[in-house]
Amino acid sequence: MAGPGEFELIREFFAARFQAHNPGAGVELGIGDDCALLIPPAGKKLATSVDTLVADVHFPAAADPYRIASRALRVNLSDLAAMNAEPLWFTLALTLPESRAEWLEPFANGLADTAEQFGITLIGGDTTKGPLAISIQVTGACENPLRRDGASAGDYVFVSNQLGAAAAALPIVLGQMAGSERQQQQADAAYYHPEPQFELARAIGEYASAGLDISDGLLADLSHICEASDLGAALTLETLPIAELAQSLQNKSGSNPEAALQVPLEVALTGGDDYELCFTVPEQHLAAIEQLQLPITAIGRMTAAKEIHCQLNGVPWQARRPGYRHF
Ligand code: ADP
Ligand code: MG
Repeated sequence: MAGPGEFELIREFFAARFQAHNPGAGVELGIGDDCALLIPPAGKKLATSVDTLVADVHFPAAADPYRIASRALRVNLSDLAAMNAEPLWFTLALTLPESRAEWLEPFANGLADTAEQFGITLIGGDTTKGPLAISIQVTGACENPLRRDGASAGDYVFVSNQLGAAAAALPIVLGQMAGSERQQQQADAAYYHPEPQFELARAIGEYASAGLDISDGLLADLSHICEASDLGAALTLETLPIAELAQSLQNKSGSNPEAALQVPLEVALTGGDDYELCFTVPEQHLAAIEQLQLPITAIGRMTAAKEIHCQLNGVPWQARRPGYRHF
């Protein structure tokens, strides 16, 4: 390897950026020993989660390393947000084909900028040689967790913001489609800078009965709430908030508006990577949550019948493919 050696790499690109100025709350000992030593916040639960991003599976290997880092940390932060946990610490297991400062520098910068923005600090990790892969484990503090198993029949199903942008972004991100300048900007934001919904999770925390972040597509992820809560759901697809980028895939040549909606709907329902929240709200909290004027939309109700049933303007609707599956 022509670049920095393992320990030089850890020191220069990770320890230096994360420990020198701001070791982080509750960090008694950060990068550099066998373990980090951490002091959990009194009276709170620790929420922890790990996600691995593999080159050419979860991001293009040749992508800008700054953006790869942003995506890797943000998708992990999204799990904390979806649990209604505050970010505290993360570890990084980095598998690199080679040690190259030209790659590590922007990667570490992307990681540091993203970490600073969300108030999370790097406390350790592991560095190995192999095909490019990034594992990040995040830990947060949680007072009022948003679990998957709390929904009841009749609860309203909500999603945050809009769906479908990240899946619609993929052909642009992969360079298979050019896209307009506006589409390119939307694709870059959706794919590399998904927004962990911390604020929203906090706002809905006391009203929501169940919730998660949408990583594998709405239908696939809602089915996790259904399974955990032993329920099903009935969705009214005409209410689904579809992202502009997904809508711009709409087939405008057809005369049948429902056929033209098929592609954006499929993308919004089964495309992954949106990292928006899907959550359920009991009817008695509906007025309170609507008063908050949040960027959320009710798209259906939970049902005792254990299947997800979709209707578009009163007509039953079937997705052509399920959500993203790894295997
Ligand atoms: P050990 O052999 O005891 O597992 P390592 O040699 O793997 O320790 O790592 C030395 C120190 O550097 C540890 O504190 C570890 O947490 C940290 N570290 C290793 N790789 C990374 C990385 N990519 N980012 C941050 N910290 C790292
Ligand atoms: Mg090690």
